Amino acid sequence: MARGTDRARLGPIPSFGEGTAHDRSRSRDPRNRRVVEPGVVTVFVAALATALATGLGALPMMFVRSAGRLVLGSANAVASGVMLAACVTLSLEGAHRSIGRTTLGVAGGIVFVLVTARYLDKDRGRTMGSLRGEDARRALLIVGVMTVHSAAEGIGIGAAFGGGATFGLVIAIAIAIHNIPEGLAISLVLVPRGTSVRAAAGWSIFSSLPQPLLAVPAFLFVDAFSSILPIGLGFAAGAMVWMVIGELLPEALAMAPRRLVAIVGAGAFAFMLGLQNLLS
Ligand SMILES: [Zn+2]
Repeated sequence: MARGTDRARLGPIPSFGEGTAHDRSRSRDPRNRRVVEPGVVTVFVAALATALATGLGALPMMFVRSAGRLVLGSANAVASGVMLAACVTLSLEGAHRSIGRTTLGVAGGIVFVLVTARYLDKDRGRTMGSLRGEDARRALLIVGVMTVHSAAEGIGIGAAFGGGATFGLVIAIAIAIHNIPEGLAISLVLVPRGTSVRAAAGWSIFSSLPQPLLAVPAFLFVDAFSSILPIGLGFAAGAMVWMVIGELLPEALAMAPRRLVAIVGAGAFAFMLGLQNLLS
């Protein structure tokens, strides 16, 4: 029965409490089979749907056509607020399981972005779609960081399905809704620089593809994944914190007044944190 408890506790991002361990143990009881055991296809399709939801985040950009400095600065501030709030949730979820392994993951995530950014710095002629130079560098960095961060969430979805189909679906829906502002964060960096809204939606969905790809193995080998999940959550948080402090905020402050950056960024932070709270 300890195995069942492990499975159920491993899942949620955000956390959905302790009721699930109970549900899981009930499913093992032949007298009470009300908890439906999901199949691999169900897990994959649900995680794929969460990835597609990320593309919805690009839609508001259809109404932001001008790319003045104030717009670009504010866009970076909103992206920073959304990403910092996601970092808080990821860190808390990781620390809840193991503070040591989460810290290790955070350090790994920071080193990852540091190394990736240095690698991108070396070749200024790099392009990404219609973007080139510094724009392409920052676009590649945010898509890379957000893609890596969604790997941890894919493991969370797969593990949640280990607690039964209903529990897995609840977590998949929560992560799908949380993905929409993250798609917006990516689009806020790409579209003002000249990427089309359609391409930004495509990159947003791309950044969430690790979710369906990792949900299935995490569901099948939940015990093995349970020990690395805190590292993955910490890694995601560390990479995003570095991206915000090292890239997005300095650019926001260079383009928009400090007070505007603070108001817009902090407002986005509060909104995203409130959204995560509603989902948990
Ligand atoms: Zn996320």
